[in-house]
Amino acid sequence: MGSAARSHESQCTAHALRLSLALLSTVNFPILRYTSLLMDSITTLDNLWMGRPRSIAAGLLESDGHRAVIDPGPGSTLKTLHQQLQARGIGVGDLDAILLTHIHLDHAGATGALVRENPRLAVYVHKNGAPHMIDPSKLLASAQRLWPNDLQRLFGETLSVPANNLRILEGGENLTLGSRQLEVVYTPGHASHHVSYFDNTKGVAFVGDTAGVRIEGNSFVMPATPPPDIDLGIWDTSFAAILERKPARLFLTHFGYSDNPSEHIALFRERLHRWAALTAEILRHAASESAAMDSFMSATYAEIAEHLPPGEAEHYAFSAGLNLSFLGLARYLRKRAAAVS
Ligand SMILES: [Zn+2]
Repeated sequence: MGSAARSHESQCTAHALRLSLALLSTVNFPILRYTSLLMDSITTLDNLWMGRPRSIAAGLLESDGHRAVIDPGPGSTLKTLHQQLQARGIGVGDLDAILLTHIHLDHAGATGALVRENPRLAVYVHKNGAPHMIDPSKLLASAQRLWPNDLQRLFGETLSVPANNLRILEGGENLTLGSRQLEVVYTPGHASHHVSYFDNTKGVAFVGDTAGVRIEGNSFVMPATPPPDIDLGIWDTSFAAILERKPARLFLTHFGYSDNPSEHIALFRERLHRWAALTAEILRHAASESAAMDSFMSATYAEIAEHLPPGEAEHYAFSAGLNLSFLGLARYLRKRAAAVS
């Protein structure tokens, strides 16, 4: 049977089940125990990264018995992820899929360990990220350069994912997960292999780091621009692709929902370009790379602190990594300058 036929059959089964439950409910039949089969929910799981609430969010998607996690987080928060799932009566063995927006360790690092625990897991990832899930050695080597002393503490263990588990994406796919449809859209900018997932029925866009950092409960939006392959030019096409679909809400890894996507993206884009201009200006005058990084970090921190109370400002700076944002922007500006000269 083809996958289209299978999906049609499962939709029909779900439809028939709904219909019979609707009939049962008219005669006051206790249907509560069936609701988990019909649930079509999105739950924010807080990974409590480095013991901090509201830093890294994973999304649990349940629909008609199908369970998927979007961006499970780093290896260092695997235990928390287990606990968060367990609190909802779910084990890793009950999951069907992992959907990765991109392969940075804070989003995807736990994937290999989850597949080891549940070899049935389908792992969705962009084609350019897939080789690094199979063999994470280059990914780990570049992470080691960024966090020479802290890699293990921050991100824990990163295991490889067997090629058979991978489902390769390019953007443009429509995934059927239970009765939920998710549209996959290629959204590079933060990373060249970044995709976003759109639940167009619920109006939720899972945008990973494409729309920056906005910790739920605050209105301040700021960029996270780590090396190696941020690209401000190409990022604009991703903003357009997100807004075109008119989502009601963005779901950000750092952290949670943002309810006004067009305002959010306008604010984010403005600050992203301003911080790139600031980096260029600092690089023109700084005595050294480390002096440039210090200037960038103090200027951007001062800007954050203007908008947020001290605890929140520090939390934003930690969650996004201002030092990494400097390194990413500096690398992008140099690459761009080299390309035009
Ligand atoms: Zn991230």
